Amino acid sequence: MRIGIVGLGLIGGSLGLDLRQLGHQVFGVARRSSTGDRAVVRGAVDAASCDLKLLSPTEVIYICTPIAAIVPTLEELLPHLQAETIITDVGSVKVAVVEQATALGVNFVGGHPMAGTAQQGIEAAMSGLFCHAPYVLTPMADTPRATTETVAELARALGAIVYTCTPQAHDRAVARISHLPVMVSAALIDSCFREEEGTVLELAQRLASSGFRDTSRVGGGNPELGTMMARYNRRALLQTLADYRQSIAEICDYIEREDWQALEAHLETMNEKRSRFGFGRSN
Ligand code: NAP
Repeated sequence: MRIGIVGLGLIGGSLGLDLRQLGHQVFGVARRSSTGDRAVVRGAVDAASCDLKLLSPTEVIYICTPIAAIVPTLEELLPHLQAETIITDVGSVKVAVVEQATALGVNFVGGHPMAGTAQQGIEAAMSGLFCHAPYVLTPMADTPRATTETVAELARALGAIVYTCTPQAHDRAVARISHLPVMVSAALIDSCFREEEGTVLELAQRLASSGFRDTSRVGGGNPELGTMMARYNRRALLQTLADYRQSIAEICDYIEREDWQALEAHLETMNEKRSRFGFGRSN
């Protein structure tokens, strides 16, 4: 298949590496020509350009730019598309993107691979990033079934596990398991630096090990991505933050009242509830 990718960063570059390994011909469009050059050298694309015209002969196009640039990129792509070209995106929010993309009347299905690292840019691209990870597709009622199925097949070929849902359900679910953790994790790092005594802060930084490394990872990631999540999924994120504030208040209350029994019962419940997530108890 001839596949186009716009935006050759962590996600676009990683898609390119895997799709080429699967035997597809990949054409990449970058904002800066230096990014396109690196993508060719790294083997993420067969050819690169800063001109969207390069994508005219492609059958499927992935838009992998930051969220704010997805719809403007799609608008710029319009004159270069064949009627049957399938377009998808990888943005971490779906309602804002899918509603506008659908209004343009293109053959579009929204997508979101639930995989990433704390790094960004073409140098961070890696093969196998999507393997065993969920990949969400958010077709609308009038999205052609063949469009969704083609993108789903490509995702399965990357080793991803495909889910379909409405853009609204996607945004509410990821607010809880992806966007809230970014904000909570950022707050965790911030609260550590509120320690007033320099020697204690320095000691904390030296002692921090796997627990703090794991819980601070997403808060210390790509700042632009975190801001976009909040900006484009504002309502759902504010609801989860309100729920989180309530949860923290309950924990503070147990500790203030020295109600260790209630705290232990609460933590036991969370120990059980964590096992209900897709990654299970072992991780
Ligand atoms: P990234 O590593 O920063 O890459 C973004 C790429 O887009 C860069 O190569 C950049 O080009 C290009 N770009 C930036 N602004 C642009 C613009 N205005 N027009 C055209 N291209 C532009 O970001 P990423 O992590 O791959 O994220 C890309 C998309 O994937 C986002 O929509 C994000 O929501 C989604 N996503 C991210 C993750 C994650 O964990 N990172 C996971 C799932 C989905 P230059 O290099 O030439 O500047």
